[in-house]
Amino acid sequence: MTPCPECGGSLESGSLLVGSLVHWSEKPKVRMTSPLVLEGAVWHGTYAGRPSPFQAFRCVRCQLCIVPGAPGCAHTFHAGWIFPYAKLRWVSGNTKFAPTFFYPFSSRGRGGVIAETLFSPGFPISISGARCPARRCPECGSLEITYGSREPNEQRSA
Ligand SMILES: [Zn+2]
Ligand SMILES: [Zn+2]
Repeated sequence: MTPCPECGGSLESGSLLVGSLVHWSEKPKVRMTSPLVLEGAVWHGTYAGRPSPFQAFRCVRCQLCIVPGAPGCAHTFHAGWIFPYAKLRWVSGNTKFAPTFFYPFSSRGRGGVIAETLFSPGFPISISGARCPARRCPECGSLEITYGSREPNEQRSA
């Protein structure tokens, strides 16, 4: 398995649970027309869909979550932000997360599986208020999400 690009340590594999559409922008502002990077959730016109799992890797030490792109891509990462409207959650290994009726308010799934919250957008006033720094390779779509680096002033305004 590929090591963590930040610290060289081993990565943990699992699933990133995405409960909303996620836009991408290289600027700290986003528009509804900005490209989508993770098309999470089944969008039936409801605010909160069931989260879609994306196969991913993470480094707990660096708080980095990697969604792999095409194998063999040389990757040219561009720095920017992702804009999730709902929490990004995580389950380790091959665990399948089946949400209950109480998702997105409860991170406990069926069969006692508990998803860990990686990123919480809080209650943003605008969609730009829910950003998380990330890097993206435009060639293959690989994403590196630095989920631990939340901007503290964004939290205050929420
Ligand atoms: Zn690391
Ligand atoms: Zn790439």
